[in-house]
Amino acid sequence: MSLPSTPPAPIRLLDLAAQHAAIQPELDAALQTVLAEAAFIQGAEVERFALELGAYLGEAHVVPCGNGTDALQLALMSLNLAPGSEVILPAFTYIATAEAVAILGLRPVVVDVQAATFGLDPAAVEAAITPRTGAIIVVHLFGQCADLDLLAQVANRYNVALIEDNAQAIGATYQFEDGTERYAGTVGVVGTTSFFPSKNLGALGDGGALLTRDARRATYLRQLANHGQTRKYHHEYIGLNSRLDTLQAALLRVKLRYLASWTTARQRVAAYYDAALQATPALQIPARDPRSSHVFHQYTLTLSSAQQRDLLQQHLQHHGVPSVVYYPVPTHLQPAYQYLGYAAGQFPVAERLCTTVLSLPIHPTLTSAQLEYIAEVVRAFFVVPSPSA
Ligand SMILES: *Cc1c(COP(=O)(O)O)cnc(C)c1O
Repeated sequence: MSLPSTPPAPIRLLDLAAQHAAIQPELDAALQTVLAEAAFIQGAEVERFALELGAYLGEAHVVPCGNGTDALQLALMSLNLAPGSEVILPAFTYIATAEAVAILGLRPVVVDVQAATFGLDPAAVEAAITPRTGAIIVVHLFGQCADLDLLAQVANRYNVALIEDNAQAIGATYQFEDGTERYAGTVGVVGTTSFFPSKNLGALGDGGALLTRDARRATYLRQLANHGQTRKYHHEYIGLNSRLDTLQAALLRVKLRYLASWTTARQRVAAYYDAALQATPALQIPARDPRSSHVFHQYTLTLSSAQQRDLLQQHLQHHGVPSVVYYPVPTHLQPAYQYLGYAAGQFPVAERLCTTVLSLPIHPTLTSAQLEYIAEVVRAFFVVPSPSA
């Protein structure tokens, strides 16, 4: 096996420096605008960004806020659920989904996900509904929508609010069985997103936003995110101080202009990996739901065992290919959430995914030489060396 042990050029999991270098003059100009206007909180760039992102997402109302976790908290606050109400959420997600629920004194109700798409299992959601259920939070994990047809049906049937945690699938679209097409995050009562630097649309710091098609809810959310203020020094509600900095909004306006082309570049990387790896035994490439587009926040393989996963990761590392496990511990087994009383074995799909998934580098600036090398290194792991070699 003549596999070189070093890549053609260093491979990074994420290459924000290269991505920003390509648009540096525009980022510099945005910074100069903010310095000149000197309105660092709630400056005009924030509203301009909100309108432009809303237009990008099919005329949704966009309410910027401090980060994606605050966005989830604000979304829940806008529902005014009774204390102790239950909120159904996935066992396989980033912890922020459960954290926003718990911090408000609401009760996270964990349910399992579907192995193929990593999305909430609609049947498990329905089985978890009780008279105390106030909301369902669906996470469009890794960039593809969960089963929104069935999840929206369950939410409607039981009159429960559907919140979409869309931190990872900005710009993804979903085609309902009736033909209606919607952007991820604009289907539920309210959607949330994050501009954490590594997300598909990342700020140069923290940032987040709420998405809704309801103008009145947008107004309410805007007030909640700004100290519950209806006009200056008049506080109708107990709110948060959670605002997107003017500087981040100005930088995000620049980056939003490139989001579509960066998404296309990610999809091209994914298509390359698909073709190069689909015939590899003992490895599953990301499944596609034909109803959803996939914006590939992550390109996540599923291995056949925990041992295979860990050995593949070591093999990749040895050959200069970074990879990450998103996520190694399911929600219900995190120490902070032991008070909920869940035990190992309760959500077998999520638990198995935590031990068998592995995400490969997927960013818009990977070269074809790097991609060929990565695929070659992955395939070499599964080739049993002949005794004479
Ligand atoms: C990143 C992320 C969040 C949190 O966003 P922050 O801006 O870091 O607070 C929430 N949910 C999911 C699924 C995420 O990936």
